[in-house]
Amino acid sequence: MKLLIANGYVIDPSQNINAGKNLLIEAGRVVGVVDRGEPIPEQTEILDATGLVVAPGFIDMHVHLREPGQEYKETIATGAAAAVAGGWTTVCAMPNTQPVNDNAAVTRFIIEQAEHAKLANVFPIGSITKGSNGSELAEMGEMKNAGIVAVSDDGQPVPTAGMMRRAMEYARGFDLPVVDHCQDKSLSAGGVMHEGKWSLILGLKGMAAAAEEVDAVRDCELARLTRARLHLAHVSTRGAVEAVRRAKEQGLAVSCEAAPHHWTLTDESVADYDTNTKMSPPLRSQDHVEAIIKGLQDGTIDTIATDHAPHHADEKELEFDQAPFGITGLETAVGLAFDLIHRGVIDLARLVELCSTNPARIFSLGDRGTLRPDAWADVTILDPQFQWTFDGGNAKSKSRNTPFGGRSFTGAAVATIVGGRIVYLHPDFSRLLDVRQKAAGKG
Ligand SMILES: [Zn+2]
Repeated sequence: MKLLIANGYVIDPSQNINAGKNLLIEAGRVVGVVDRGEPIPEQTEILDATGLVVAPGFIDMHVHLREPGQEYKETIATGAAAAVAGGWTTVCAMPNTQPVNDNAAVTRFIIEQAEHAKLANVFPIGSITKGSNGSELAEMGEMKNAGIVAVSDDGQPVPTAGMMRRAMEYARGFDLPVVDHCQDKSLSAGGVMHEGKWSLILGLKGMAAAAEEVDAVRDCELARLTRARLHLAHVSTRGAVEAVRRAKEQGLAVSCEAAPHHWTLTDESVADYDTNTKMSPPLRSQDHVEAIIKGLQDGTIDTIATDHAPHHADEKELEFDQAPFGITGLETAVGLAFDLIHRGVIDLARLVELCSTNPARIFSLGDRGTLRPDAWADVTILDPQFQWTFDGGNAKSKSRNTPFGGRSFTGAAVATIVGGRIVYLHPDFSRLLDVRQKAAGKG
């Protein structure tokens, strides 16, 4: 069966397409982006995307799906459901599960669970060190054969430069990018929020921006030394963005991502001790937020990633000091990215680059992040003007730990297509499906 996404505005930076076009899909793959006037082949279902933007499927390089081991927070199936509801066709799962994804058996388990869920594509990220405890390298080759797309000890930094050097040299042998959680623990130990005016006022122990920046600079230097591919996770400080900017100017294979909360909120949000403002790296001061926004605008920051980190309500109800770090993000990220568009920081083509083209390139996902002929038919359909309010209580994620519950947005992903299948359609857009069925009924 063929599917024609008709009358939409197709934006695909991988082919420099930015025009009113139709998209034809067959057997899970893209046939091509075609002119609106071209005759429609026999036996084609039609999805009417009038007034909507049709983009290659969005790819979130950084999520925590909690399975195996903490299924009470999230499962691969519920995480994948949250992903497609948020417009993400692909998510990359960090290895800090229980057990840690440091071997091929865990990698294969994650892939199998995702195949059962049949929603988003889930690509596992393997750990850098066994148990992510920083002392012994994990079996990257075996995990790569099983399907990992990168390695990371995310949640924890790699503790020493010596270990990171060995990790980069080893990962380079398998052409795996190293994803870096930058945090010098000798500087950040005991910290629960950004170190600054607000940590003083609130009497909470701070984590200095320098804790992130010291590691960012360290690991850019190690990328120079080893010629490995380095991707900095969730950059949140001016100095970290600056380190990446310099590394790129010098031609190093360094990239980075930013999470929506880091351009949306400042450390002032912690003032009512809401544990849904506690994450690592923490919400920073205005100056750092401005540096993130600049980095998103000028290309220094390559991708938007959610760092979706579900926790059970009981865990987040602890005192601020005691609560775990992290917030959910899959269902609000695109809405928060549209804020940047409406403020004139980025345009739609740049949004697609940040959420699709660049993540596919950095993780070598080949036939994703593009609508070229024969690519996987992964598609995110956006309505830039759709007004909606995020109801945290009705989230698809199993967890509710978000500071964005009740927030209103303009702009959303309204339909998500994975491998040619419509896996999510916003309830207000069922008319798209009606058109499809009507067309199918007509034969
Ligand atoms: Zn992290």
